[in-house]
Amino acid sequence: MTVYLVGAGPGDAELLTVRAARLVASADVIVYDRLIEPSVLELARHDAELIDVGKEPGGSNSQALINDLLVALGRRGSSVVRLKGGDPFVFGRGGEELIALRAAGVDCDVVPGVTSAFSGPLAAGIPVTHRGVAHGVTVVTGHVCDGDDDYFRRIAHPELSLVILMGVSQRSSIAGQLMRGGLSGETPVAVIESAWTIRQRVTRATLDALGALDVSPPAIIVVGPTAALALRDIMSEAAALA
Ligand code: SAH
Repeated sequence: MTVYLVGAGPGDAELLTVRAARLVASADVIVYDRLIEPSVLELARHDAELIDVGKEPGGSNSQALINDLLVALGRRGSSVVRLKGGDPFVFGRGGEELIALRAAGVDCDVVPGVTSAFSGPLAAGIPVTHRGVAHGVTVVTGHVCDGDDDYFRRIAHPELSLVILMGVSQRSSIAGQLMRGGLSGETPVAVIESAWTIRQRVTRATLDALGALDVSPPAIIVVGPTAALALRDIMSEAAALA
């Protein structure tokens, strides 16, 4: 039997791929993360076994246990979906799970998902690249601050959008490093909390104010000129929220 590592997208079940929705609807067992919305799990069979392996931010000791669980379920012969927020290969430890499963001789396939790195900004009407505004985008985790309080100074770039995942707790340090790296305190910033869920909240500010913003995880932080764009205003509400 194959264990499928499936990207569930950023929240709203409408943002699953067709393949992800089909696999969720047919699985015997679904092993899911903290960021999976109930609307996605509602697609599962009524008799499917749902296993919550949600980890608190920062607590990664349980990854080995998750790997062992997936191996055991795969060997049992059930059809197993390992459901992960966003895309499995974007800060999702999907690569580690794939390697562990293959090392144990269990077949494994990976189904891409809509990553929050791009769909989070889009939810606020921010295109992470935009002609004449930003010609590229850097996606990085705020956890790089653990053990390196100079990282963001080194990657500061005024013409790129910077998208930071897992950056809320380090936002003050990140802002300081980016300004030391040459970004103006006036650089636009946007924070998108719980994108594509009913709890979604968008906060706009400038870089010098990022450290003091009242925001909580899970959130995407966008820094750079595109963070001032608000194309949401010209999208149809119905289309954006449908
Ligand atoms: N694999 C996921 C990322 C996992 S890391 C993906 O591709 O999206 C977890 C981090 O992702 C969170 O701390 C937060 O920074 C971000 N994140 C995931 N879903 C989010 C959402 N709906 N809204 C805002 N941020 C989100």
